[in-house]
Amino acid sequence: MDKIICIGKNYLDHAKELGDAVPDSPIVFFKPPSCLIHPGPAITLPKNKGEVHHELEIVLKLSNDRYDQPIRIKSICLGLDLTLRDLQKELKNKSQPWEKAKAFPESAILTDWISGESFLDYLEVPFFLKVNGQLRQRGIGSDMRWSPLELLDFLSKEFLIMDGDILFTGTPKGVGPLNPGDEIEMGFEGRESQKFQIEG
Ligand code: ZN
Repeated sequence: MDKIICIGKNYLDHAKELGDAVPDSPIVFFKPPSCLIHPGPAITLPKNKGEVHHELEIVLKLSNDRYDQPIRIKSICLGLDLTLRDLQKELKNKSQPWEKAKAFPESAILTDWISGESFLDYLEVPFFLKVNGQLRQRGIGSDMRWSPLELLDFLSKEFLIMDGDILFTGTPKGVGPLNPGDEIEMGFEGRESQKFQIEG
C-alpha cells in the first residue's frame, strides 16, 4: 500500500452544494496512509482550525498483484474524508494545494472492509451517514459521475497504482460540520452499520 487516492466532485449534487463548476475530468488528490483510522471508540478532530466537515464516500481497496491482469477491486467499505472546510476555501481562493485541509491525522476514517466478491451490487445499495441519529448524507454509487471502473482506467494512465492502494470515490450532497461529542453511524442499507463517537 502506497497511497490513498481521493476523487473530488464525483456526484453532481455535491458539486452544486459547494457552488463549484462540474469538472470535465476527475479531480484527484492524495492523502498519506498515516491519515487512516479504523475507528475505535472515539475519533479526535483537529482543534481551532475552523469547521471540520464529513464527506461520506464509498471506499475501495485496490489490488494490483498480477502483472498480466487489470487492477481489481479487492474490498469495499465506507469512509469519511474529513475536510477542514474553512481552510480549504482559503486555500482554493489562493490557488494553493488542499493538503493542509485534507491530510491531517485521522482524516480518513474507514468502516470494516467487505470482500468485493461478496458485495458485487455495492453500487446499487444506498449508503448513509447519521449524526446524533439524524440523517445527514444518503447516496447511491450508481449516481457517480465517473464509475469506479472509469476512475481506475483514468487513474492507471496517470499514476502507478500499487497493491493495497485505497480509493475514496467522492461524496454525495449533505456535507456538514462535525463537533466534539457527536455520535456517528454509517453503513450500507440492509447491512450492519457501524457507530463511533467524536471525542468530547
Ligand atoms: Zn471527498
